[in-house]
Amino acid sequence: MAGFSDDRRNETSHKRRRTPASTNKSSGDTEGKNKRTATLMDLDVLDCSICFDTLTVPIFQCDNGHVACSTCCKKLKSKCGTCSLPTKSRNRAMERVLELLKVPCENAEFGCSESVSYAEMSRHLERCVFSQRPCPFSGCGCGFTGSYEDLVEHSVSKHDDTLYEFECGESVFIYPKVGERVVLKEKNTGEGGGVGRVLVVVECFETPQGRIFSASCVGPMFPGFMRLSYSFTLRSSSGDGLCFESSAKSVREVSGEPPSEHFMFVPSYMCPDYKLRICITWTNPFRSRRTTTS
Ligand SMILES: [Zn+2]
Ligand SMILES: [Zn+2]
Ligand SMILES: [Zn+2]
Ligand SMILES: [Zn+2]
Repeated sequence: MAGFSDDRRNETSHKRRRTPASTNKSSGDTEGKNKRTATLMDLDVLDCSICFDTLTVPIFQCDNGHVACSTCCKKLKSKCGTCSLPTKSRNRAMERVLELLKVPCENAEFGCSESVSYAEMSRHLERCVFSQRPCPFSGCGCGFTGSYEDLVEHSVSKHDDTLYEFECGESVFIYPKVGERVVLKEKNTGEGGGVGRVLVVVECFETPQGRIFSASCVGPMFPGFMRLSYSFTLRSSSGDGLCFESSAKSVREVSGEPPSEHFMFVPSYMCPDYKLRICITWTNPFRSRRTTTS
């Protein structure tokens, strides 16, 4: 449903609202008889001191004990953001705390009733159907944020004019412009076919040497279940061609930044006069859901 999330938009600040976690266990705990439990009054202590995001394993620290998440460590080239000392050591004690701490899903207010290990929270949020996802259409400024289901409805009702449709295993010509996104929605082909609830976003970035194309899936993906694979086929006006295959990473929000891996690179001399096709397929080691089979 469109619109209703506009009220929520302001709540989705960089820093999420937290509920203090109680680690008290009920009597049903088998080995917990002699275990002591505790309540953590403020979950903010488990945030990275640099980006303020939730710390995830591995956790690094400098000699002064300032902790940093692995993303910040990489970004700052293992230099502490507070005191500039190298952040080379792991903080195993903190990592253990994260693993043992169970907290309610951050989407509890939207209906998720799961309790998740703190260390697993970000992984859970990626596939939690209650996670709030911003509208992936670029430049529309609609400001919509909603659950994945709402996002699919919103894409159809508000962005139908620019929304592409795809059928599993069939090629679609797309025309992504630099800095813009192409959003494709799986066609609802009925029985045994597409369920029409998958959104794939293709992004295009300009670099000095050429263009970068990548695709991601804005929605929950369940590990061990289905994988969304895609291929790009590009043919330039000079007759040269490129083919690229990868699987679409499941994201909550399209980052808008050039990816560091899993992208197709098109050298400048082939740009911008080319035709680009994308072919998206579901792959599953146990079962096939290709709509191309009758
Ligand atoms: Zn960080
Ligand atoms: Zn430091
Ligand atoms: Zn959840
Ligand atoms: Zn929108």
